[in-house]
Amino acid sequence: MRVVFFGPPGVGKGSQAELVAKAMDYNILSMGDILREEIRAKSTIGVKVENFLQRGSLVPDELILEVVDDFLLENRGKGVIFDGFPRNLHQAIALEQALSRLNEAVSFAIGFVLERDEIVKRLTQRRYCNRCNAIYNLTSGPSIKPGVCDECGGELTIRGDDRESVIVERLKVYESQTKPLIEYYSGLGIYRPVDAGGSKQEVYSRVMGVLDAHHA
Ligand code: AMP
Repeated sequence: MRVVFFGPPGVGKGSQAELVAKAMDYNILSMGDILREEIRAKSTIGVKVENFLQRGSLVPDELILEVVDDFLLENRGKGVIFDGFPRNLHQAIALEQALSRLNEAVSFAIGFVLERDEIVKRLTQRRYCNRCNAIYNLTSGPSIKPGVCDECGGELTIRGDDRESVIVERLKVYESQTKPLIEYYSGLGIYRPVDAGGSKQEVYSRVMGVLDAHHA
């Protein structure tokens, strides 16, 4: 199966992608993680995209689609979760076309739904490991030792774009560019909304409910 996870920033897409991928032995394309790694490595693509991430705007589609093409070829025939891609209609159509060239298609697009106050709260409390990308929340899911990653011992930091001014911009970008995917995937009959409220485990059960229904 190929499953798209989308929604506003801070709804827990990344954490859910990790859980589902582990349970189902899927690979994840996490566009944000890939871009942050490129920036850290100061690669050609990293230098090009850094400003966009800092401002909270979308990276131009050409750059994103280059990364995706490589990933699709490497993951042909495998179960995949697309986390944070597509993020606009052009990307969604490009994904559909690229998959159909490989005789594949998106099985479901799961849209995570959460109210704005809760999103802002989660983002400002989010910490991530800049070594292995593990995600924590200061209140609902802290690391055992403050500031230190449970998985790899790396240092936990606040993402530069989790500052309040950038959060506002990212929410605007979601509303204007990503939200139209609801209509697009509804039209294809594969949109599945999932309530992102509650604990990680509760949300995980809802996601698995959607995916299990596919096998039933
Ligand atoms: P995320 O980690 O998914 O919150 O993504 C962090 C940032 O990476 C976004 O605010 C964008 O600047 C950039 N980004 C991630 N995915 C995409 C995408 N599919 N298209 C364009 N920009 C993206």
